[in-house]
Amino acid sequence: MALSTERLGLYNPQKPMENRLTDLGPRHFWQYFPSVIQNNYGKWLYHDILEPGVLVHVAESGDKVFTVRCGGCRFMTVENIREICDIADKHCDGVVRFTTRNNIEFMTDSHDKMEALKKDLQGRKHVSGSYKFPIGGTGAGVTNIVHTQGYIHCHTPATDASSMVKAVMDDLFDHFQGMKLPAQVRVSMACCLNMCGAVHCSDVALLGYHRKPPIVDHEVLAKVCEIPLVIAACPTAAISPTKTESGQKSVKIKNERCMFCGNCYTMCMALPLSDYEGDCVTIMAGGKVSNRISPPKFSKVVIPALPNNFPRFPEVCESVKTIIEAYAADANKYERVGDWAERIGWEKFFEKCNLPFSDHLIDDYRLQYDTYRTSTQFKYTDASWAVSKAIGGIK
Ligand code: SF4
Ligand code: SF4
Repeated sequence: MALSTERLGLYNPQKPMENRLTDLGPRHFWQYFPSVIQNNYGKWLYHDILEPGVLVHVAESGDKVFTVRCGGCRFMTVENIREICDIADKHCDGVVRFTTRNNIEFMTDSHDKMEALKKDLQGRKHVSGSYKFPIGGTGAGVTNIVHTQGYIHCHTPATDASSMVKAVMDDLFDHFQGMKLPAQVRVSMACCLNMCGAVHCSDVALLGYHRKPPIVDHEVLAKVCEIPLVIAACPTAAISPTKTESGQKSVKIKNERCMFCGNCYTMCMALPLSDYEGDCVTIMAGGKVSNRISPPKFSKVVIPALPNNFPRFPEVCESVKTIIEAYAADANKYERVGDWAERIGWEKFFEKCNLPFSDHLIDDYRLQYDTYRTSTQFKYTDASWAVSKAIGGIK
């Protein structure tokens, strides 16, 4: 598995692969495997979760790999990364990995080393007393929240990512360190509807949402932006060219066409759309990637707009907790949030989670045929017929 050292030759269409360098980009993963994984590559028998946050993988040869999973964070300081590397050097022969949900995984090849590692991790605390490396995030619990940049790095967020995730995770910490839910619950967060965090397929998803179209800064637009690019950036063709009264080139926006995606702001900073009161947090539920029991599902909007209450987002935390508690109390073992909601019917889901169903949750997309499976289609129950009767909906 060595890296290629050959020089790039002339391209020969008869032998397109001759002298071709194929190791451009990241270095080959093989060199980063611990030796126990190199020795047993492709020969693993099974794996088991020994306790929340601790896994063991057993190979055909009898070799074992013990993995201790800790909660990490999306933005790490150099000091934090150095500490992680020190731990890896001390207990794991310098090996450490990160999961896609920002968990840190330390791997050892013996039970004794794993116990020493666990003790070390549990003893490392912040001055406030909280764990620096909380162990957990495996199996039927809540693992770390995958999230997006938020105000720290991106330009289009409708809310902040890191602070919301911290507040929600503080409330769900018992589920991070435990495995008492019916199945795993994946929570994710994206701070605008471009969704660079996987909110479209998570059990519970938090989404920052703009509710107002961009403001056009006619004074500077032509000086800082390429107008054709801005027009082309709009997915709904809401932007068209115009001229101001003073004859300056600019753009105008057809508000009823705008879906507040922020693409135009990405192209042109003279079209800001962040708004303290208009921006809100939307909650979605029932998505998953796994095809166990049922096919993968999209997350569906269940709460259209919660206020953007910095820095602890109490309404968001409360809603997530309510959904997870209702799910924990009512779902069958191995049922994900979406499986549970589909078994009992989405209408019952709203009742059990004590969430109001509003007209904002109805999929009125004109080409709805494509989106049927992305909204909370439900069967009516007695409770909803009663409401319908009370307002004169049925005779
Ligand atoms: Fe930026 Fe949107 Fe991604 Fe948030 S979700 S980091 S605002 S692109
Ligand atoms: Fe178009 Fe999106 Fe800009 Fe609205 S926010 S005008 S939909 S690019």
